[in-house]
Amino acid sequence: MSATRTDIALPAPAPGTQRSLRVHRYGIPGARPKAYFQAALHADEIPGLLVAQHLLCRLEQAQTEGRVLGEVVVVPIANPIGLNQHLNGRLLGRFDFASTGNFNRGFPDLASAILAQIQGRLSTDPTTNVALIREALRAVLAEQSAVRETEALKLMLLRLAIDADFVFDLHCDSEASLHLYASHWQRDEAVALGAELGATVVLLEENPGGGPFDEACAGPWWKLREALAEQQDSIPLACFATTVELRGQADVNDELATADATALLRFLQRRGIIAGDPGPLAEPRCEPTPLDGVDVLTAPATGLLIYRKQLGDSVAIGEVVAELVDPLGDPPGMARTPICSAASGLLFARMTERLVRPGQKFCKVAGREPLSHRQAGKLLED
Ligand SMILES: [Zn+2]
Repeated sequence: MSATRTDIALPAPAPGTQRSLRVHRYGIPGARPKAYFQAALHADEIPGLLVAQHLLCRLEQAQTEGRVLGEVVVVPIANPIGLNQHLNGRLLGRFDFASTGNFNRGFPDLASAILAQIQGRLSTDPTTNVALIREALRAVLAEQSAVRETEALKLMLLRLAIDADFVFDLHCDSEASLHLYASHWQRDEAVALGAELGATVVLLEENPGGGPFDEACAGPWWKLREALAEQQDSIPLACFATTVELRGQADVNDELATADATALLRFLQRRGIIAGDPGPLAEPRCEPTPLDGVDVLTAPATGLLIYRKQLGDSVAIGEVVAELVDPLGDPPGMARTPICSAASGLLFARMTERLVRPGQKFCKVAGREPLSHRQAGKLLED
């Protein structure tokens, strides 16, 4: 069995222009467990594109040696649309120029889409139920169609991932240490993956809102368990999906990428998808913390941003993280506004630009306790 490579055409956005989505597949189609990787759904987040290259090399080798026991699907460029969005010489790949919004928002809630058709058909056997639910998820996506290019792209990605046991959505932040997002329902998997990758922050989400890709894949399982509470013991959480933030936008080099790809492959080995000895699991570098414990520092006004804390620094509640300098302040040179953290924890991500607008979010501190000003359903920045 050899690896396959497919290019799926997207709808032409303009005469004479057509993009496609490349998909690599390893192992036997339908073999379990299935892992799915995609890189740079936010197209200006480049580290994942290089990690995917290292991953593909390693998977080619594993396939040749007959070591792919499950199935692995890799989309090395998840967003060819965004990769072509340049403005004034800069790549801008977070929001769709064609006005559909953030590329990693607005994925559907498939639990509600399939609830009616699986109700009354579930048994007490979890394995049968997983197969039945996956079939319903695939069927509901097969029925959907999309005319616009971006909507077609999102539908294609979701079709490739929806029946996977493990979904890895590779992103990055502006400047950041390696961190990941996962559901609080899947704490153990998140901790294990975080240990493998050396993550310094593992964020557990309860109700992030916004419809990101990872929740679209993993969410149906816990949402069905909630909706069908009397049968929840026979509905496993059959998909672990995570958003892996591979540091900052400029952290693109072979040393980091090969280490990250190796860590991801070790995770696949531990889960029986790739044969081989992954060695002992590293100690986690952090305890997981709640997403609603992240203080997202926001600029109260415009100004120059002067950080007083660096990436990886511990920050106490009330400590000054940055100062805002008003270049037109009076007396000249003295108008500085300190901006303090509302959380006690690790500074793990911050904005690269050093000029802010009023209301701009510029820095994240991962605290242990949920913060009262963070609102369920609105926990992801746009
Ligand atoms: Zn992203």
